[in-house]
Amino acid sequence: MRIAVVRETRPGETRVALVPDLVPKLTALGHEVGVEPGAGEAAGFADELYAEAGAGLVDQPLPGAEVVVSVNPLDRDRLHQLREGTITVSFLPVSTSLDLVADLRDLRVTALAMELVPRISRAQSMDALSSQALVSGYRCAIVAAGLLRRFFPLNMTAAGTVQPAQVVVLGAGVAGLQAIATSKRLGAVVQAYDVRAAAAEEIRSVGAKAIDLQLETLEGTGGYAREMDEDRAARQKDALAPYIAGADALITTAAVPGRRAPLLVTAAMVEAMKPGSVVVDLASESGGNVEGSVPGKVLRIGHAQVWGGDNVPSQMPGPASSLYAQNVVNLLALMSHEGDVVPDFDDEVVVGACVTHAGEVRHAPTREAIE
Ligand code: NAD
Repeated sequence: MRIAVVRETRPGETRVALVPDLVPKLTALGHEVGVEPGAGEAAGFADELYAEAGAGLVDQPLPGAEVVVSVNPLDRDRLHQLREGTITVSFLPVSTSLDLVADLRDLRVTALAMELVPRISRAQSMDALSSQALVSGYRCAIVAAGLLRRFFPLNMTAAGTVQPAQVVVLGAGVAGLQAIATSKRLGAVVQAYDVRAAAAEEIRSVGAKAIDLQLETLEGTGGYAREMDEDRAARQKDALAPYIAGADALITTAAVPGRRAPLLVTAAMVEAMKPGSVVVDLASESGGNVEGSVPGKVLRIGHAQVWGGDNVPSQMPGPASSLYAQNVVNLLALMSHEGDVVPDFDDEVVVGACVTHAGEVRHAPTREAIE
């Protein structure tokens, strides 16, 4: 089938959905790959690399495409260039893209959303939420270390000892665990907190101390957290305050699926931090774990510099694209049969990821929200 790789149009997006190294995997499955010139440029992948790997360079790849792969969903103008029955594979944040989903339905596009791929063992190789969270978590630790005007590691020198930085990480999912592991590798002393009971062991397994606030845990479904009520949130803030006041660097990564990010740290808690301290809020663009953080900005609150995350995987576009592309290629491989891409609606991975197909919204919560 003809697979199009488009240049991303979202402002600030630097990733690309397919990297040259993976073109042969698709051609070996019997597909033709057409890349829009410049698609990989911001991620460091020149057009020639795609051509050398066996892809064609196509100025207008959408009208002739049978499958379109992208990081972000196509904008509405580009969507209308697609033919009926085209398969799109991209991130597609359905709850905030209802108009777009209605267009995809009306254009009879089969839209697969990478964030809806079920997080089951069999689909781990297609789990783009995890691959991009891994990049974000690493980046958060590096940003914290870069902003902090002191060492992360202990230094024992002839002139005397320099104490290691104290890092606190809130939220120990995929991104948080990677932030912990990276901070540890840089030599910091790390403590972390998560509302899920299982997280304590995971925190310890990457070398940090699990903070025990003596509060009830909040397990939701599918290994995710549940939302806090106001009382639980207030008690958590009170209990966390001394840990945050003692931190040189605070990294927050907490999220609850389908909800605004939980507010874990008030401006007053940041104001109680030491001079020179640093706050890195990965959740800034989904509402913020830290009051006052702004996506894409470094602000001063009290004595602290507060950094707000904004499309953080795009800050490491090469590896983020490579990992995302592997997820996409693995999903396409699952659906490929003798040179065709044929979604199998008996497969729970396909069913989970499918938002629209044959003029219908297949994703039940989105269908209810639209109708
Ligand atoms: P996420 O991005 O939804 O949330 C990040 C973290 O924030 C979670 O660990 C969550 O518990 C935590 N959090 C939420 N509210 C909080 C609060 N008030 N205070 C502190 N922390 C809070 O989660 P994620 O990183 O996508 O993954 C979460 C879970 O899913 C983990 O258990 C992970 O192991 C699991 N997972 C499973 C698979 C798989 O089986 N294929 C893949 C990826 C993740």
